Amino acid sequence: MSDRTKFVLDEDRIPHAWYNIVADLPVAPPAVLHPGTGQPIGPADLAPLFPMALIAQEVSADREVEIPDPVREAYRLYRPSPLYRAHRLERALGTPAHIYYKYEGVSPGGSHKPNTAIAQAFYNKEEGVARLATETGAGQWGTSLAIAGALFGLEVKVYMVRASYDQKPYRRMLMETYGAEVVASPSPTTGYGRQVLAATPENPGSLGIAISEAVEDAATRDDTKYSLGSVLNHVLLHQSVIGLEAIEQMALAGEEPDVVIGCTGGGSNFSGMAFPWIGRQLRGEGSYRVIAVEPEASPSLTRGVYAYDFGDTARLTPLVKMHTLGHDFIPEPIHAGGLRYHGMAPLVSLVKELGLIEARAVHQNPSFEAGVLFARAEGILPAPESSHAIRAAIDEALVAREEGTPRVILFNLSGHGHFDLSAYERYLAGALEDYEFPAERVAEALAAVPVVSD
Ligand SMILES: *Cc1c(COP(=O)(O)O)cnc(C)c1O
Repeated sequence: MSDRTKFVLDEDRIPHAWYNIVADLPVAPPAVLHPGTGQPIGPADLAPLFPMALIAQEVSADREVEIPDPVREAYRLYRPSPLYRAHRLERALGTPAHIYYKYEGVSPGGSHKPNTAIAQAFYNKEEGVARLATETGAGQWGTSLAIAGALFGLEVKVYMVRASYDQKPYRRMLMETYGAEVVASPSPTTGYGRQVLAATPENPGSLGIAISEAVEDAATRDDTKYSLGSVLNHVLLHQSVIGLEAIEQMALAGEEPDVVIGCTGGGSNFSGMAFPWIGRQLRGEGSYRVIAVEPEASPSLTRGVYAYDFGDTARLTPLVKMHTLGHDFIPEPIHAGGLRYHGMAPLVSLVKELGLIEARAVHQNPSFEAGVLFARAEGILPAPESSHAIRAAIDEALVAREEGTPRVILFNLSGHGHFDLSAYERYLAGALEDYEFPAERVAEALAAVPVVSD
């Protein structure tokens, strides 16, 4: 057995194709429905918002989708990302488990999000789009798209949730440095923003409202398309580079994971790591426990309903079948901003329904505790989102210690926490609150979900 710590692939091992789990699933994904008519939508309905190449990927059932050379070229800025064996964390926990993590914080922007931002910018540029509109919560997605826009020569307009805009000025400055235009959402620059501001001038904003604004921006301008950083099938497709690389790196380590773990906001980094492994399982090439970890304050997979719902507050987006807390649910202001979304990617929801993954929810204090333990053992300061995955990995390692049985644990470390130091400050001061998701919210969520028969 090797006692290496770091498993690195050469640049020529960046995957040549993304992996699409739809090809291996035993059932076809539920149709996407038009927000007005409730009928299944076609490519033409999405054309005002997305370039045709991405629409084709959204509905593709091909197992492999070729990665264009300019995208692989841009990936070379930070890919392949490293995979580590966490020897020091294992020793700190006194566990017989072997813990591995794939580190996506090496990207410009510090998270996995450039994996799709780069691809989306490329396809938009190819089809003559000049400008992209998007939303950002905590700022990681806006940052990633700003970088991708700079790389491929596209203007980027970011609707940033007002609360984050005020609390995270460094994220805004980073986006502006990369050349993006950033406004606080709700903003006076869209009809929906003006409507919200008229009703609630002090509105702190939400991801749902910001999505509505960005969609309206793209739908009402010829030179502009919309870009989403998670949830959609094509986004999950692009993120598969994480798991595809990890499969090769675990082979270098000479081990197979028993457990694969990722944190879930909209589901993109989790599926990026997990779907290539689940694909192997579906093809009879292995068997894995796969765990999605979400915050207790926004527990769509563990407490939401599996139903058709809108992706945004203004009900402009198509209806997708997913685990949802209701499109007007606004999660408590936990510090893992990237996990504060009311819904879950339809494909992640589907694999959950099919029993291919487990889901669990954790509070922010135990998750920060795990993040700090990890930082002191491994030297990397994790993003508060990623610490949810670390919590589950540590808990699995502690069970292994309890049972005295070995197990191989692999998790995705989706990003670093260098812009989240004020959250760490609050945690270290003992000032972080754990938010209970009230049971009556489940009923409210159900009531808010539109009635659609499928
Ligand atoms: C955005 C983000 C997430 C959550 O988004 P997913 O689409 O669920 O991956 C998780 N971790 C980091 C570091 C993020 O920036």
